[in-house]
Amino acid sequence: MKGSMTDAQRPSTWRKYVKGLCEGCWGGCCTLPVEVSAIDLIRLGLTSEEEAAVSLKAIAKRLTKEHVIQAFNAKAQLFVLEQRHGRDCIYLGKDRLCTVYEKRPEVCRQFPKIGPRPGHCPHRKK
Ligand code: SF4
Repeated sequence: MKGSMTDAQRPSTWRKYVKGLCEGCWGGCCTLPVEVSAIDLIRLGLTSEEEAAVSLKAIAKRLTKEHVIQAFNAKAQLFVLEQRHGRDCIYLGKDRLCTVYEKRPEVCRQFPKIGPRPGHCPHRKK
């Protein structure tokens, strides 16, 4: 429906993604939990290949203490990035742009092709 508000927590309210939609958007996609792999953590400079080869669990323990991650799924070998006030990604800037864009995780690169509602996003103007 035109003019209706999207709610990041409710994918049924999301709108169809079209090119250029990110321009001036509030970054609702950056308020969703972000699942990252060890490769993503290495790219972000949060760990090294050496440390990852030893123990992902030990990395999870350290990064939890540092408030960088909020969860670790040992079976899937995936970490969940911490969120500010349970919402914004810790890498979302005051201007609501990604502060680590060049090094951002793979899921961020794939969104909205991959996500809770593929091809759709919680677009809203800033
Ligand atoms: S890493 Fe960047 S693109 Fe990914 S959710 Fe966080 S702020 Fe958004």
